Amino acid sequence: MAPFDINKVKADFPILNETVNGQPLVYLDSSATSQKPVQVIDRINQYYNHENANVHRGVHTLGTRATDGYEGAREAARRFINAQYFEEVIFTRGTTTAINTVAHSYGDMVVEEGDEIVITQMEHHANLVPWQQLAKRRKAVLKYIPMQEDGTLDLRDVEATITDRTKIVSVAHVSNVLGTINDIKAIAKLAHDKGAIMVSDGAQAVPHMTVDVQDLDVDFYAFSGHKMVGPTGIGVLYGRKSLLNKMEPIEYGGDMIDFVGLQDSTWTELPTKFEAGTPLIAEAIGLHAAIDYLESIGLDEVLKYEHELTSYAYDKMSEIEGLEIYGPGPDKRAGLITFNLAGVHPHDLATALDSDGIAIRAGHHCAQPLMKWLNQSSTARASFYIYNTKEEIDLLVDSLKKTKEFFS
Ligand code: PLP
Repeated sequence: MAPFDINKVKADFPILNETVNGQPLVYLDSSATSQKPVQVIDRINQYYNHENANVHRGVHTLGTRATDGYEGAREAARRFINAQYFEEVIFTRGTTTAINTVAHSYGDMVVEEGDEIVITQMEHHANLVPWQQLAKRRKAVLKYIPMQEDGTLDLRDVEATITDRTKIVSVAHVSNVLGTINDIKAIAKLAHDKGAIMVSDGAQAVPHMTVDVQDLDVDFYAFSGHKMVGPTGIGVLYGRKSLLNKMEPIEYGGDMIDFVGLQDSTWTELPTKFEAGTPLIAEAIGLHAAIDYLESIGLDEVLKYEHELTSYAYDKMSEIEGLEIYGPGPDKRAGLITFNLAGVHPHDLATALDSDGIAIRAGHHCAQPLMKWLNQSSTARASFYIYNTKEEIDLLVDSLKKTKEFFS
């Protein structure tokens, strides 16, 4: 593998040549969605120009090309997260759909009145509302693992929260607000010790670090292509084959059936049982190109580079008086920094930074219960990826200082 070359990586992303308000774009919102390299864009074009057809049905040549592309993407995703079987990789619209699938299909099958579902207050709404709704449907109890003051979890609290009544534990691998990296392997062990299953929301982890679902020993794991240099509209639900086999589909229609009679039908095998209708063919093929791209850099290199950037940003931003950073120190966090600047509303801050060409996010980040925990109605967030540089962080810091002056 070639050493990480930031200039080469940056040159792969055409959108980074944009100017915004007369300034070169500084894109610090990759946790919301990442930019796409030319390799991914070209692969999707290639598919539509030369391979487009429906999958699994046609016996013609284009049908075979499309099917090979789609199933090739599944194999790439399987290898990428080290799932044992290709049937364990279900393509979904994204993390949200993946978690909803688990909550409906597995949740409705096993959760009974009085059972517990255990989550945390740092969850994105995608890993919170589906469990709330499941708890309501089944008259179950939704429990929260308490958080430490720095936004991390103490495994003793995890252990104390999970009981013999717990059926499902679901925790983000990486928080999209605090940047906290949770010890999913240890939490999965505690869940399994009590007979519960472990679900993890990997939306903010898979783009940035090596994820091995067998090593983590999770039962379900979800992630989105668009946050990992891939296209929108595609994600993965990893599920343990023995569980997926027992579960009912949540959507019915073409492709997922085996036999359809006038009054009853039967379902086909995994993974198609969970992929009703024409699947996300171009999107999956684009995701394959994204996986190839990240693998060509190496996920360990990605993590190392982002850590360097985040530590740099953390130190520089900490020096700004009145700027409060939420979440753990740089050694325990992934590549994002959520903060507030005293006296400046995060939306005003984001607007001021945009006038300097800098894109950050402001709001509740789809984590309202976490905002409540932080005692903030909204916050600002700068998030980093492989195409960002220390020079861009310097520009961010200068713009933050300028904005502070302006509002004081
Ligand atoms: N979980 C986390 C931690 C996220 O950051 C996000 C997106 O921001 C999601 C889930 C939802 O992902 P998607 O909108 O791609 O389904």
